[in-house]
Amino acid sequence: MIESAVRRKILDMNIKILFSSRVVDVKMEDKKIKAVVLQNETQIEGDSFIETTGSTGPMGNCLKYGNGCSMCVLRCPSFGGRVSITKKCGIEDMIGQRKNGTYGAFSGSIKLNKESLSKEIREKLNNKGVAVISLPKEQINKGKLDIKVCQQYALDAFAKNIVLLDTGHAKLMAPFYPLEKLRKIKGFENAKFEDPYSAGLGNSIRYLSIAPRDNNMKVIGVDNLFVAGEKSGFYVGHTEAIVTGYLAGNNSVRNIIGIPLLQLPVNLTTGDMISYSNEMMHKEDGNKLRFTFAGSIYFERMKEKGLYSIDKQVLYERVKKVGLLNIYDEKLI
Ligand SMILES: Cc1cc2nc3c(=O)[nH]c(=O)nc-3n(C[C@H](O)[C@H](O)[C@H](O)COP(=O)(O)OP(=O)(O)OC[C@H]3O[C@@H](n4cnc5c(N)ncnc54)[C@H](O)[C@@H]3O)c2cc1C
Repeated sequence: MIESAVRRKILDMNIKILFSSRVVDVKMEDKKIKAVVLQNETQIEGDSFIETTGSTGPMGNCLKYGNGCSMCVLRCPSFGGRVSITKKCGIEDMIGQRKNGTYGAFSGSIKLNKESLSKEIREKLNNKGVAVISLPKEQINKGKLDIKVCQQYALDAFAKNIVLLDTGHAKLMAPFYPLEKLRKIKGFENAKFEDPYSAGLGNSIRYLSIAPRDNNMKVIGVDNLFVAGEKSGFYVGHTEAIVTGYLAGNNSVRNIIGIPLLQLPVNLTTGDMISYSNEMMHKEDGNKLRFTFAGSIYFERMKEKGLYSIDKQVLYERVKKVGLLNIYDEKLI
């Protein structure tokens, strides 16, 4: 339900959305983007630009570094593949690597049609939100843990069991699962994939296009281009996309009116994650690291630095102390 809710919110804010508008090139003036060029050759001029094209695919990359097009949610065959805007500006993208050196990483989950699962599994999902089904020995494959994006789930338990989460569909926490193999497991005899459609074969390949940026989210080497989401780091999920997106959006406006850009302090979790991940990804083997608030190395750091808290009052005081309460509510222009 969230996509249409977000869409309504954006439209309510009088933001103009251009659907099915794929940027294929840029017009530059020195180190500034003057306009982006759409596939239909329309040029859209702007003072500041924010690139959030992600880091996945297109199909050629999913073939080269994965198991081919898995017909994922990006729908490259219908809408066209990702184009890196930073690359069009002449900036070299960083590419993520797996432990074995292969480029990119497999998206780590697939969705099954819940109705196609046994009554027992469905009830577990509906009542508890989760179902854990232990795998027969011959189906355990720990190798799959190293190839996936979400290193917070690269744990033994995820290799020894099928872990299902209720997201409306049944989300299976593995990058792909051959259908015939899956249907041999009790309760999965009629299993049917919902997303990606070819989840028996593979999944989308991510981390193929990360831009060099500063901690204001501005791209290094382009004066009026900002990045957020997966484009801005080896980030695993939505929360990271949201916090980098807010900052990039705010700074893109500051850049237009010529006031100092905002850098979130490291005594806020968001500021620390943005600067720490930026520093680490440029170190040797940094492109093998993954950053998320949800687990793995950054979660450990959050706890070590005393930043992890779910107490709203503590968080409120922390933001107040650095003078940033409601910073994104201030109208800059
Ligand atoms: C199977 C799967 C399961 C996931 N599960 C979770 C989860 O449970 N929790 C979580 O937090 N995260 C999850 N994620 C990760 C999360 O979806 C991503 O981290 C997040 O969507 C990244 O957002 P983004 O905006 O940076 O990039 P994307 O969501 O990849 O969006 C980029 C968009 O830009 C478009 N685009 C590309 N090039 C151009 C161009 N030139 N012109 C115009 N448009 C262009 C693309 O079509 C795409 O719509 C999952 C991802 C996958 C694939």
